[in-house]
Amino acid sequence: MFLIAGVQPKTRRVDDNPQRCPACGLSQAFTTRVDHYLSLFFIPLIRVKQGEPFLLCEGCQRPVNGSRATAQEVPLSGASTVCVACKKVFDRSFKYCPHCGQRA
Ligand SMILES: [Zn+2]
Ligand SMILES: [Zn+2]
Repeated sequence: MFLIAGVQPKTRRVDDNPQRCPACGLSQAFTTRVDHYLSLFFIPLIRVKQGEPFLLCEGCQRPVNGSRATAQEVPLSGASTVCVACKKVFDRSFKYCPHCGQRA
């Protein structure tokens, strides 16, 4: 059985202004978006999901880290600790409690 219908990702370049890739140093990083299309017989028919734009370097064929497009918050150390004073949870990388200023 061949899969004739399915959702396939489709990479689209959002703008044509190349930006410098910090990994390879070439200005070949373009703002790119991966949309998902419902396709039939490998022909994209309906866009089912619009992706978030990100920088993709065409030199490295990899997304560029640290670009403005990756707007999600980066988790800090991942470990958390509880403040002895106010009992609120905060990230262990903080020297002081961000809620009350108690020294961690
Ligand atoms: Zn690159
Ligand atoms: Zn506190």
